[in-house]
Amino acid sequence: MKVAPNTVVSIEYVLRVEGEIVDSTPEGERILFLHGEGHVLPPGLEDSLSGREVGSFRVTLAPDEAVGEYDPGKVFTAKRGDFPGDAKVGVGEEFYFEDEGETPVAAKIISVDGDDITLDSNPELAGKTLEYEGIVHDVRAATDEEVEHGHVHGEGGVEH
Ligand code: ZN
Repeated sequence: MKVAPNTVVSIEYVLRVEGEIVDSTPEGERILFLHGEGHVLPPGLEDSLSGREVGSFRVTLAPDEAVGEYDPGKVFTAKRGDFPGDAKVGVGEEFYFEDEGETPVAAKIISVDGDDITLDSNPELAGKTLEYEGIVHDVRAATDEEVEHGHVHGEGGVEH
């Protein structure tokens, strides 16, 4: 059976960026997902598995197929006073800000220069080419109930 919308797929994978492992399914564990729902796997991976059968896979996703290009417009400066008084304001710390549409956006501090704090709200892997290597362990048709609920039932899925 091929991976397609409304199939339940179990996989394991390793994600490399520039040769370094940045993400993987836990050792010996598999991820189970309902294909087409798009909220279990990282962006781009689910689509790239369409049409595959049980077996190993290797997928390379360009930035625009994955989390998007790096946007220098998402780097901005704030003042120390913009942060809560008890906040630890240091490089690498992450905060939530509201954008113009009042949507909370995660931003990481990339530099601190006196009172000027520079933050970057690009996703971690923006602008990166993602190299996935993994195994499709199982593909089966989703039940009508799973399709209706939008998630996998049974072992490794939602029990209810
Ligand atoms: Zn359910």
